[in-house]
Order: sequence, then C-alpha cells, then structure tokens
Amino acid sequence: MSEANGTVLSQFRDTVHKIKSYEEALGVLYWDLRTGAPRNGMDTRSESIGILSADMFKVSTSPELGELLSALEEKGAYEELSEIDRRLVTETRKEYDRSVKIPPKLYQEYVVLASQSENKWEEAKENNDYAGFQPYLDKVISYTNQFIDLWGVKETRYDVLLDQYEPGMTVTQLDGIFGGLRDQLVPLAAAIAASPHQPDTSFLRQTFGKPAQKEFSLFILQQMGYNFEAGRLDESAHPFATGLNPGDVRITTRYLENDVTSALFGTIHEGGHALYEQNIMPELTNTTLCTGTSMGIHESQSRFWENVIGRSRPFWERYFGELQKRFPGQLDVSVDQFYRGNNTVQPSLIRIEADELTYNLHIIIRYEMEKLIFNGGAKASDLPALWNDKYKEYLGIAPPNDAEGVLQDVHWSGGAFGYFPSYSLGNMYAAQFADTMERELNGMWSLVGKGDLHPIKDWLAERIYKYGKLRTPSELVLAVTGKPLDPQYLVDYLTKKYTDIYKL
Ligand SMILES: [Zn+2]
Repeated sequence: MSEANGTVLSQFRDTVHKIKSYEEALGVLYWDLRTGAPRNGMDTRSESIGILSADMFKVSTSPELGELLSALEEKGAYEELSEIDRRLVTETRKEYDRSVKIPPKLYQEYVVLASQSENKWEEAKENNDYAGFQPYLDKVISYTNQFIDLWGVKETRYDVLLDQYEPGMTVTQLDGIFGGLRDQLVPLAAAIAASPHQPDTSFLRQTFGKPAQKEFSLFILQQMGYNFEAGRLDESAHPFATGLNPGDVRITTRYLENDVTSALFGTIHEGGHALYEQNIMPELTNTTLCTGTSMGIHESQSRFWENVIGRSRPFWERYFGELQKRFPGQLDVSVDQFYRGNNTVQPSLIRIEADELTYNLHIIIRYEMEKLIFNGGAKASDLPALWNDKYKEYLGIAPPNDAEGVLQDVHWSGGAFGYFPSYSLGNMYAAQFADTMERELNGMWSLVGKGDLHPIKDWLAERIYKYGKLRTPSELVLAVTGKPLDPQYLVDYLTKKYTDIYKL
C-alpha cells in the first residue's frame, strides 16, 4: 500500500475507533441506568447521554470522514485494502450516507418527538387510552415517511425500514417467507388445540425462591460456556444484553417467584446474545464490525440457545435433576411431565408471553400492519380495528381492550418500524442453523443429553460468532448452511416437536 493511502487508512481507522469508543461509553451509561443507578442522578445522566450522543453523531457525519471514505473508495486504493478494511469502508459508507441525508434540525425534532411519544405510550397503555396516543403515533409515522423519502425509496417504501435491521431483506422476500410460514403454522396450531393430549402444568403454579433460581441461572450460563471473566449477570425490569467489547458483554434477567423458568429462559436467551459478542474475532475489536451482523441473526443466536437447546427434551434429561435439587420437594414430577409442561402451545394476546409456535403469528400480524402503514397508507386511527381483525383471523382471539392489543409493544411509539420481523427471522435462522449443526456435529443431541454444551458453542463460534459483521446475513446463512434462508426448517422443527408433545 502506498504511503499516502496508508495515512488515509490509519486516519479512517482512528475515526472508526473514536465512534466505537463513544458507543462503548454510552453503552456503559445505559447499562448503569437500567441496573440500579440512583434515581436522583437520572436527569443529569440523561443530559450527559444527550451531549455524548450529539458528539458521536457529529463525528459520524463529519465532512472529514466523508473525504476519508471517498479517498479509500477510489480505484487503486480500494483494491489494496484487506477484507476487513473493505467491509469496514462499505459499512461505514452506508451508515454515513443514511445519517447525512437527514437534516440535523429534522433529526433533533424527531428525537424529542420519539421520546415524548414513548412516554405518552406508557401512559396510554396503563390507562387503555389509544385516543390519547394516536396523534403522537401519527406524527412518528409522518416523520418516518419523511426519512424514507430522504433516504430514497427502494422497491417499496417499507423495504427502506426493513433494511435498517436486516440488511438486504425485502418485502418481496418476506411476503414469500411469512406467507409460507403462516399457511403451515395456522393449521398446526389448530391441530394442537384439538389434541386430547394437553400437558399438565399445575405443578408449575407454586412459589419458587429467588436465590435458588439465581444460582441455577448462573450454573446454566457456565454450562453454555458464557465467560464470566468477560461479563456479568445483573437484574433489570426488562432483560437485555449489552456488548461493550468482546471482553465485556453483560446480561441481565428478572426473577419471578411464581415462575420457575421465566428467569432461566430469559438468562439463556440473553446468554445466547452474549456468546455471540464474546466470541467475535479479535481483529474486529475497536471497529464497528465488532457486533452481530443483523438483528435477525442476533435473535437466531439467543433463540437457538433458549428454544432449540433450552426447551429441548435432552436438555431437561440432563438438567431437570439439577433443578429439582435446588427446589427440594417442589418439583415432584417426571422429566417428561416437566418437559411437556414447559412446552405448551396456546393462542394468546401478548407477544412476549407467547410460545415458540404462535409467537411467529404475532410477528406476521405486526409485519402485515407495518406494510399497510407504509405501503398502504394506513393511519394511526385505522390500527386498533386492523389489529383486532388480524388476531381473530390468525389466532382465533380478539383483545378485550387496546392495552392488551395494539398498545402492548413499545416499538412503534419510538419509531422502530421494521424491527418486528427480526424476531421471527431469528427463529427461522436458528432452525436452519440447527439442521446443519445436527448433520455436522456428531451426535449433537447426545452431547446435550450429557450436558456437554461446549462443542455446540465452539461450532457456533467457528461458523457464526467470530465473523461479527464481516459477513452480511444472507452471506452468512449461505456459508453456514449452503442454502438461502428457508422457512421450511422452522416448520419442520415445530411440527416434529409438537407432534411428539401433543401426540398428533
Ligand atoms: Zn433477544
């Protein structure tokens, strides 16, 4: 590489490192706010977050960064870059263009609106007052539409939003994927509901002490290969994982005394996110590639550990005795009863409480509604009725009020349109990865049955984790499984699992 290009590259790398440092600092501040920061300091803390975020935005949209990018993209210079630097340039360019297209004043107005709208949503949900929230939602939709115009419409307007969370994903693709999923899951759910073999769940309705739950959660994290030298487990109202750098990936959970597995599955889920971030190759540290490649792929890792492994029969064959030991006299049932009792399927109103199967229908409903908003011109006033109709159609139940219906999720209030599909994509990617793993890893389920989970973590690290954002989601799926994303893997996985549990 020429000396001039070398200098440009090192200036570019320094700028990226600076952006990453802001991200890390902000990550610590957010983590602290959500895990027990003193209440009296919160307002001042919020101001500090505002100032640091504005500074970070300035660096990431600076003309200097634009010039460095242009220089590195020039013919001759680009060819000399390593694979990592090329990807870093492409990724930074994409983010840079997105950010500079929004006038700072418009962005500032939007940030204020989004925060007001989120507060209003919280109030509206509590008081079942959709009418009070509706004008805010209309404004958030209108700003989002302005952003779509500024960013440039792709095949459809909604495609622009999808691409933010799942790079390259389109409405055309998702219509096919979700259509296939819906057409097969709706009859499967009906067959399950009609089965005379409904699992017994009565033994789950007891009080389970928090200290033993915590101890068991820590034990399972250790079994998964979560590195406690590079992380920690805390408590928060909503469980989350935050990857500050590969040497510091923290997770939280929430203990419920009336539910023996809620904190555990929450911990395994966040632990799955954390394993991904802890095992990214060191060459990507201090770059913006040092994170998951998309929300969908990230969710595939949390859901793989939580559902495919954590809710499997072999897992409980190994670990149910360990759980019983921690709650003496309380779980006097067989492994089969425990396994089936923790894998019931039941159409319900609330997404975050849904089972592995109907969860996807909750997502398809939201996807179809977001499409109606951005491609079909639906207004905030249309949403409650649309919501209720779709729940009736796909799940056979309608919410008794908006608090348990259209108001249940925070996402739309803060403008996170296009995010919901990630959850179901995560389920589909997870099932497809699991299929490859079963074939490549000799006796995968007997490893789980023995509690030998490290070969599974190592396989994921080698094939998925280490690449961070170096491969796009579609490149990654193709490289790992030899095929593009195919929803049939999830349908087959769910069919097999519930045919056994419900004796269909
Ligand atoms: Zn997650």
